Amino acid sequence: MAIRQIVVEGDEILTKVCRPVEKFDQRLADLLDDMWETLRDADGVGLAAPQIGILRRAVIIDIGEGPIELINPEFLEQSGEQNLQEGCLSCPGDWGITSRPAYVKVRAQNREGEFFELEATELLAVACCHEIDHLNGILFKEHLVKDSNPQERELF
Ligand code: ZN
Repeated sequence: MAIRQIVVEGDEILTKVCRPVEKFDQRLADLLDDMWETLRDADGVGLAAPQIGILRRAVIIDIGEGPIELINPEFLEQSGEQNLQEGCLSCPGDWGITSRPAYVKVRAQNREGEFFELEATELLAVACCHEIDHLNGILFKEHLVKDSNPQERELF
């Protein structure tokens, strides 16, 4: 495993649409393991593959309730609205209150290629939206409703 460099805003990699993961092989497992090591090192709660320069549809999330890996994630449902504060490991020092769905249902594959569904609310729903946005070249700033002066800070 290795800690990878996190790409920061301004790099065009962060504006690209990622391609699906097609091979569920050791290379994918190595990528995910590197993503975990990178995320832990950065003390964040989520990371998408393009943030380490890999244009594939893979994200990891851990909001403190255990690790989640989403390969080729798709939204099945989104409803409601919530406003939480977001930051991004790729946008150091920038924070803001965003508008996101209060509830999401996501279908994804695990690192073995098996499909599963995930229902999420609160911070986990925001994390899913934030990371899946990264796979489509979108940063959290596109969802800002106001700037914030944060007490609680989570980094995706
Ligand atoms: Zn981010």
